[in-house]
Amino acid sequence: MSRSVRTRPAGSGQALNEAYDTALLDLDGVVYAGGDAILHAVESLATARDGGMRLAYVTNNALRTPDAVAAHLTELGIPAEAGDVITSAQAVARLISEQVPAGSRVLVVGGEGLRVALRERGLVPVESADDDPVAVVQGYGGPELPWGRFAEASYAVARGLPWFASNTDLTIPSGRGIAPGNGAAVEVVRIATGAEPQVAGKPLPPMHRETILRTGAARPLVVGDRLDTDIEGAFNGEVDSLLVLTGVTDGALLLAAPPRHRPTYVDGDLRGMLTGQPEVVPSGDGFRCGGWTATAGTAELELDGDGGALDGLRALCAAAWTAAGEGVCELDGGKALARLGL
Ligand SMILES: [Mg+2]
Repeated sequence: MSRSVRTRPAGSGQALNEAYDTALLDLDGVVYAGGDAILHAVESLATARDGGMRLAYVTNNALRTPDAVAAHLTELGIPAEAGDVITSAQAVARLISEQVPAGSRVLVVGGEGLRVALRERGLVPVESADDDPVAVVQGYGGPELPWGRFAEASYAVARGLPWFASNTDLTIPSGRGIAPGNGAAVEVVRIATGAEPQVAGKPLPPMHRETILRTGAARPLVVGDRLDTDIEGAFNGEVDSLLVLTGVTDGALLLAAPPRHRPTYVDGDLRGMLTGQPEVVPSGDGFRCGGWTATAGTAELELDGDGGALDGLRALCAAAWTAAGEGVCELDGGKALARLGL
């Protein structure tokens, strides 16, 4: 591991939107949930942008084109252009273009976002294993993708063609529950062929590289809700990250995070981009943040004091991560988190 192990959230005397030049924002669970903007997202992003921060939106979802994502954001009151959106379809298209000749045919199992991204790299999307493809790419195809598409991919992959995946998120949230994501679709072809795809999306380096190439960010801050994609992607890219609690990560998951899943900063929602971050400092046997002190007991994490819930969570992170070192904290944080209402 090249980075030192993080054992507590960092403080910042400067507002994060001033300390960093570019926010690399995840979408689902950060900016919107289902079709609707998340509370405080619209006005927080407007303030950050007005203050001179560049905002870029980074999504593992390869189904929609950057144009379609930008239109959706704009409709929610977050003005965005296609150039502000980076998708795993773009990252995988670049990865493929580096390994096959220009003008090559690529068998696509996925949606319009993937086809547009391939054409942008001078590649030709085709639909059948009989169309002489030289590579196969899989991206999320939405609920209407026919089963026969997996057969086409399997025939071509079994022939020995290089196989690529935009991302391997196993699930995708929908308004009605949790649906199978592109990772589940990739498993279908893997089971049929026994082959292994090259993957571009978060948390892997091709996605981070695509993001930096397209934004030109000098001092980026990754803002996300998922530890194993957004935060691990920032860790792999060796850039700072802000975890917000508006998506899939709760306090218990955060306290049990291994080093590569530990964010630089923790806040409740996107208002955290506009403020400094409090210091977490050693205090007696534990760690203090604001009015709270957290310590690692023999079986559980203990919390004393009072104040804002997020300060209590930051102190608990320090106690848990320090106790865990390079591993995962196994102390029970349930009572302490309940006291914070988290
Ligand atoms: Mg997310």
